[in-house]
Amino acid sequence: MKFWRLPLDSEVHSIPVGRVQIIENRCKGCGFCIEFCPNACLKESKRFNAKGYHPPELIFQAEDCVNCGLCSLICPEFAIFTELQEAKKITEDDIRKVTTRYSRKDKRFAKR
Ligand code: SF4
Ligand code: SF4
Repeated sequence: MKFWRLPLDSEVHSIPVGRVQIIENRCKGCGFCIEFCPNACLKESKRFNAKGYHPPELIFQAEDCVNCGLCSLICPEFAIFTELQEAKKITEDDIRKVTTRYSRKDKRFAKR
């Protein structure tokens, strides 16, 4: 049984898609961007930067970033920012994704 549907005004709204840019050598590995990204887009990478920290990297498809800008606001080292890549049409898939987002985030925390 389906408990979701496309919003009736989905034609007039769009979802921003951000392109995440990470300046790895500025990162001090605090993990704030990873912890607070509302879409759980980021995880700690296995790579070391020049300072010996693990910078963040994208977990899922790049299109999960909604260009909210929280990661760049919260980063104490100005090491991460996003640019608007496109404003895409809302699809049924997007609605389905919203319903699984929190369980997906839980899985990420369970890996720690
Ligand atoms: S802009 Fe928002 S959604 Fe995109 S990576 Fe940063 S915090 Fe996450
Ligand atoms: S908030 Fe900035 S310094 Fe902290 S892990 Fe993310 S990119 Fe690195």
